[in-house]
Amino acid sequence: MFTAKCRTVREATGFRLTFFCEVCGGGYTTPTLVCDTPKKALHLGEQDARLHFNRCACCHRWVCDEHFNENRMMCTDCVPRICTRCKAPVSKGDAFCAVCGAPQFEAGKDEER
Ligand SMILES: [Zn+2]
Ligand SMILES: [Zn+2]
Ligand SMILES: [Zn+2]
Repeated sequence: MFTAKCRTVREATGFRLTFFCEVCGGGYTTPTLVCDTPKKALHLGEQDARLHFNRCACCHRWVCDEHFNENRMMCTDCVPRICTRCKAPVSKGDAFCAVCGAPQFEAGKDEER
């Protein structure tokens, strides 16, 4: 079940929902969802927001892509994105550690293609 924190704003033709990452508090706002009740809007908005959020397997919070360690399926609070060799912080999408140059997990996915 999708349970990210959410704020609803009413517009002329429907609703806009903003969902929040529970690590950074940053929001994702859906396009205007054309419907007549907040309940329907929530249903539509959740389907959209699911694509932008990930559930931590450890603390079960919903977090944005930026704060999700997809190698471990956990948020970066539970499992910080760090180099497997020297433990230095590694930015999302970096194929190599900036400190020691060790290849990171993400690199493998691209090589398969
Ligand atoms: Zn975040
Ligand atoms: Zn977590
Ligand atoms: Zn390193």
